[in-house]
Amino acid sequence: MSVRVRFAPSPTGLLHVGALRTALYCHLFARKHGGTNILRIEDTDRTRYNAESEAEFISTLEWAGIRFDEGPHLGGPHGPYRQSERKEAGIYQPFIDQLLEQGDAYWAFETPEELDEMRTFQQVNKMPTGYFGGEWRDASAAAVEKARAEGRRGVVRLKIPRDTKIRGEDVIRGPLEWDSNTVDDPVLIKADGMPTYHCAAMVDDVLMEITHVFRGEEWISSYPKHICLLNALNVDLPAFVHCPVITGTDGKKLSKRHGATRVLDYGAMGILPDPLKNFIALIGWSPGDDREILTPDELVEAFSLKGLQPSPGKFDFQKLLWMNGVSLRSLSLDELDAAFTHLASWDHAVHYWSEKDEELGKTDPTATWNALQALSQSDSAYRHEIMKMEQDRATTLVDFGPMSTFFLVEEVDYDQAAVAKWFGQPHVRPMLESLKTAFSDKGQVSTDECEQTIRTYAAEAGIEKLGPVVHPTRVALTGKTVGPGLFELMSVLGPARMVKRFDRALEMVG
Ligand code: GLU
Repeated sequence: MSVRVRFAPSPTGLLHVGALRTALYCHLFARKHGGTNILRIEDTDRTRYNAESEAEFISTLEWAGIRFDEGPHLGGPHGPYRQSERKEAGIYQPFIDQLLEQGDAYWAFETPEELDEMRTFQQVNKMPTGYFGGEWRDASAAAVEKARAEGRRGVVRLKIPRDTKIRGEDVIRGPLEWDSNTVDDPVLIKADGMPTYHCAAMVDDVLMEITHVFRGEEWISSYPKHICLLNALNVDLPAFVHCPVITGTDGKKLSKRHGATRVLDYGAMGILPDPLKNFIALIGWSPGDDREILTPDELVEAFSLKGLQPSPGKFDFQKLLWMNGVSLRSLSLDELDAAFTHLASWDHAVHYWSEKDEELGKTDPTATWNALQALSQSDSAYRHEIMKMEQDRATTLVDFGPMSTFFLVEEVDYDQAAVAKWFGQPHVRPMLESLKTAFSDKGQVSTDECEQTIRTYAAEAGIEKLGPVVHPTRVALTGKTVGPGLFELMSVLGPARMVKRFDRALEMVG
């Protein structure tokens, strides 16, 4: 039997990291086994469905490199792939008819007020809450007929067997067991005629021949209902894989404080899709060895159900940044430049950086974005040189913007503390004058030539250690005391820019 998995989001909002991980596991498992990955849109709650959210899901998954073989955007032999359209096509009705006929489902006509009253009574009396029968579970056919003839709005519920154990198996956790008297009778068809998640998801899993259901741990409490429903339909159960929750490094529910939760925002922050997948895959799964950096192909090859863990997975943003940095360094200059220039004109990034959000550590988003734009619009050969030099130090694509500012501006901003520390020293004026002369009227200069010039000057001036030469030179050229290697950056800046900057610094030295 070939593997068939589905990612089945309810598109009601943004695509968050938890959902990305479920989609990723589906993708990895399907690819690993030469199987089929299906995107199914669970939109039976029409009040919460949002078409923009569906589009966000599709574009984000595409950006992340998660592939589907069937889905609303692709078509396929088990369509339609939106549950509202499946309902319109009458796909669920025969299953409901079968269950009603078998006595495994029943009509119930309580009003919302009656249901509220029931719940309050259960809560006050510390009983399990939910619908365990009420007046309708065992009502006569005549009573049901009468209620329907009167036009009463009813729902169809599944009749959970009573006084027994419901047994299931979760791939990660092993055998599970529930007292059936604690499992309430779920609604299958709502009063508006729409199927519920319980009904539509399970029927679709049967019809789409799903072999493995990957979903979030929050669905474990619904699992006994699904077991009963599938048993009543007399079908084989797929394997269920309930992926553990993702928390922050503090063990608390994931929130903005831990980093962005909208997946597209990671893209806007300059995170690449491959390290993001690498990072997300390892939250709750391990390849079984101590590898932490895996390419997309290595992830597919290493992925196995055995490596999934039941304990909550921690979302460690610093680790994501580290992985992203490793990935950035593995790119060729052309790949790096293509990713960077794409980011600079990506609508979502424009939007992301136009919003202030201090919770996300965006202290000066406008300056960051402007710096990124300045680099993306600079001469491409110059930009390549700059990026090549910064590739070792950047952790995100966005870092290249602010790190490059001093290369691109006509007049650098001087760090006043650095100026105060270095420019008051008596050797600085003759030194800058000499360096200015050395680079005047030169064409391109190599890193080695720059180093040679600095060393020669130090030797001639009788300065033993390079520090007193290197530091003020760096301040004169970049305005700062830290940055990439001085000789490399001198070579990239080139003589003409250096001379201008020495001149400006000379106006400031004592
Ligand atoms: N539609 C459900 C959700 O978005 C999916 C649950 C499942 O995969 O069965 O959470």
